Parts: sequence; C-alpha cells; structure tokens
Amino acid sequence: MKSGKIFVFSAPSGAGKTTLMNRLKQQIPQLVYSISATTRKPRAGEINGTHYFFFSESEFKEKINSDDFAEWAEVHGNYYGTPRSFIDSTINSGAHIMMDIDVQGKMQLDKAYPEAVGILILPPSIEELEKRLRKRGSEDEATLALRLKNALTEINTAKSAGKYEHVIINDDFNRAAREIETVLRSYIDR
Ligand code: 5GP
Repeated sequence: MKSGKIFVFSAPSGAGKTTLMNRLKQQIPQLVYSISATTRKPRAGEINGTHYFFFSESEFKEKINSDDFAEWAEVHGNYYGTPRSFIDSTINSGAHIMMDIDVQGKMQLDKAYPEAVGILILPPSIEELEKRLRKRGSEDEATLALRLKNALTEINTAKSAGKYEHVIINDDFNRAAREIETVLRSYIDR
C-alpha cells in the first residue's frame, strides 16, 4: 500500500490557519489531524486520545528521552510534542496527516520526516494582520505590539530558514481554501 503524505501548516496568529484547516478537512475527508501530546491539564470536554494525549510531566520527559517525539516544545509552561507513533501508524495505513505546528517545530520535524510538505499561510499584509489581531479584541496595546512583533519574526524565520514548498496568502477565505485544496490534491493524487 502507498504510504500517506504529511502536510504541515504554519502561520503567524491572525492568518486564519485554523479556519482554513477545518475547511480542508471537509474538502478532503481522508485527511487526519495529528494528535499532539501535552502535559497541560485537559479542558472541559477534551478527551484523551482525541484532542491530545495527556501525559504527566515525568511521563512526557521519559518520552523525550526515548526519542518518541518527532518534535516537541515548551509553550506557556507546558510541554507539547508530536508523537512519532501517531504519524507512523497514520501514514503506514495509507491515510494522510495534517498538522498545525510553528516554524521552529517544522524545522525539528524535518529532521525525522524530510518528506513532510510545508504550507505557510500568510495574511495579505502587515496592516491586515494588525487589523485582524485588533478585531480579536482581548489584547491591550503592549500585548498587541508583542504579538505583531512575534508574527513578523515568525514570518521572517519561515521565509529564511524554513522549508515551505507552498506559501498561501489568505486574502480571500474561499479563494485561499481552494488553492490549498488544489495543492494537497496534487500530492495525494500522485
Ligand atoms: P493549547 O494549550 O491552547 O491547546 O495549545 C497551546 C500551544 O501549543 C499552541 O500555540 C499550539 O500551537 C502549541 N502546540 C500544540 N501542539 C503542539 C505540538 O505538538 N508541538 C508543538 N511544538 N507545539 C504544539
């Protein structure tokens, strides 16, 4: 059986990645979302093995030591990682996997899975990104400035050091969704 493909989506916050990935799952039902592992406590309604694999810190560290993660990071005081076993069993069954990881995570992942296809989603302009972040509302000026600065750093790192075969500008949601679908089908149908 042909093994499945790995698609990695990265984007600065405010680029619309999550909505685009959800649409893609409707367009291509045989795509499987990668399930990450975390030491964060489950939120109400989150199910172990569906939303995340929930581990204690000591369990997670053991798994780091035994090289069970294709990539991992500490985010806001908790550990998060992508289990190799989940990727391997998914693609070995012939299904395609899509994952949502940041630029640093993708660089780590490339060492284990150089064939992973990188898709970078960008807002049409910095002005538009600022507008979208403002529209989310909750942030004060200092937080907004920091988020914007981090977004710019992430875009620059992605462009200079990352491996992204496809850059999609999310100027119009439906157009961008169609473009991503075409890109994915070009790999799936190979
Ligand atoms: P949350 O706790 O809100 O579900 O996720 C918090 C952060 O962890 C998000 O920014 C998300 O991108 C990051 N994250 C989730 N899963 C993974 C993973 O498998 N690897 C890495 N590096 N980051 C992850």
